Amino acid sequence: MYKGIAASRGIGIGSICVIKEHELTFEKKKIEDTSAEKARFNDAVEAFKAETAAMAEDIRKRIGPKEAEILEGHLVMISDPTMAGEMGKMIDAGQCAESAVEAVCDMFIGMFSKMDDDMMRQRASDISDIKVSLLKLLLGIKDIDISKVPQGTILVAKDLTPSMTSQINKDNVVGIITEVGGKTSHSAILARALEIPAVLSVPDVTTLVKDKDSAIVDGTEGIVYVNPEGDVLSQYVIKREEYIRKQAELKNFLGKETLTADGEAVELFCNIGTPKDAKKAVECDGEGIGLFRSEFLFMDNNHLPTEDEQFNAYKEAAVTMNGRPVIIRTLDIGGDKDIPYLNMKKEENPFLGYRAVRYCLGNKDSYMIQLRAIVRASAFGKVKIMVPLVTCVEELRAVKEMVSEIKKDFDEKNIDYDQNIEVGCMIETPSASLIADILAKEADFFSIGTNDLTQYTMSVDRGNADVAYLYSTFQPSVLRSVKNIIECGRNAGIPVGMCGEAAADPLMIPLLLSFGLTEFSVNPVLVLTARCIISKWSKKEADELAEKVMSLATEAEVVAALKEAAKE
Ligand code: PEP
Ligand code: MG
Repeated sequence: MYKGIAASRGIGIGSICVIKEHELTFEKKKIEDTSAEKARFNDAVEAFKAETAAMAEDIRKRIGPKEAEILEGHLVMISDPTMAGEMGKMIDAGQCAESAVEAVCDMFIGMFSKMDDDMMRQRASDISDIKVSLLKLLLGIKDIDISKVPQGTILVAKDLTPSMTSQINKDNVVGIITEVGGKTSHSAILARALEIPAVLSVPDVTTLVKDKDSAIVDGTEGIVYVNPEGDVLSQYVIKREEYIRKQAELKNFLGKETLTADGEAVELFCNIGTPKDAKKAVECDGEGIGLFRSEFLFMDNNHLPTEDEQFNAYKEAAVTMNGRPVIIRTLDIGGDKDIPYLNMKKEENPFLGYRAVRYCLGNKDSYMIQLRAIVRASAFGKVKIMVPLVTCVEELRAVKEMVSEIKKDFDEKNIDYDQNIEVGCMIETPSASLIADILAKEADFFSIGTNDLTQYTMSVDRGNADVAYLYSTFQPSVLRSVKNIIECGRNAGIPVGMCGEAAADPLMIPLLLSFGLTEFSVNPVLVLTARCIISKWSKKEADELAEKVMSLATEAEVVAALKEAAKE
């Protein structure tokens, strides 16, 4: 068994075809007839452009415009006068075309691979792809035709370049394994778009396997089995069928309302960290943003983001969601989230320390900037403010007071904003849970943060492996807390959502439906899974299960009962 990066979900079982790397060696000779050499180079560039344009067109039709952009980017790069111009100059000076292509591409590869930005580093692999293609054209080397591999093929390569991936026929290729590449590499993006299971970054895989070896690619877990034993194989055959069945079932939920089995509608929102993620939420069919973790804007920066920088980010999310709710959680730092430029004091007990709303209310000038940016963004969509780590009603009141001040100021200056902008709070501390009835009278909405609520209720550091056995949302104490919060919110007539990880847990969903949760906020990739599970439970069935589960004494009993009742 080999482990790698789980880059594209699913299970592929088939026969290996290793794509060998050709030796792209050539003799660096001095050229006398530079115009003939230039013509040879230009022919190669034209052939490259024609091949790439054809492949891009093919990808556009077979996969989609977004994926075709990768190859179109290659066309833009080779057409850039700097790159081809530099190569031309070297040929004019008497270098052979191969040598000019290699030197110029290597220079750009070196430059891009040193950059901090992931997208920029990706340019290095694009240029490497261009270099290999041009050298092959110049040297007259023909690759194996990936488009013609037989059905049931698992492709194994050092790296799967976009040009190689573009030739893949998804009816024949059932898996991809490479030695390099990560979750955001182009090969991963294309593999996901083609829905072919892929495991990347398996060290030395091209030398560890040979053509016609049988293999299993588990792209969900990032595992590869080569020549698997009979029982592993039979287990995986069942797993694959199960996976295919579930995926097909999930597609039926695309574009649908989120309804329980008895037709009650609930909201299914997404958790995001950057405004760009809002696009992902839309693609995944999320119905709104239930948690925009604004601290990522601060963490990905080397200075406090200005009011305009923040406003633009919040506005982008609001515009992308096109009128659907966008709940922006104000800065939640401290605990495990540090922002170096804020020079926060080192604390003995950071999870119980000066964090989240406590820090913000202690630094009102910078908090004001964030609140102003959010209120301004409310002119562009249904933006809401959410306060993290509330423990007492004074904190909520203080934030609301600041928002009122901002509104007054904006009214005087004629700055546009949503007059009805809501201010809600996260309920993620035992204190907030115990006074949920009091908070519900003053908050516009609640969102339960089970990640922290579990940590604080159970008194276990959520990142400490030694006490992880106690960290479970299925602990009777945590379930009682969740139930109480939802009841208090409902009694006061305010909406109650959940943005902690538990909202997407298939075992938890029926309990939440029974307690009366009306908004589930989950990772975008889990939207359809959550919608599918929700659709399987009626209120009556969920209530029966909840009644039984809430009478159990231990976490193990709770989990066992929920597993027994789980609907596949
Ligand atoms: C939570 O605590 O459940 C939550 C959603 O917030 P975070 O995970 O960002 O602390
Ligand atoms: Mg939290």
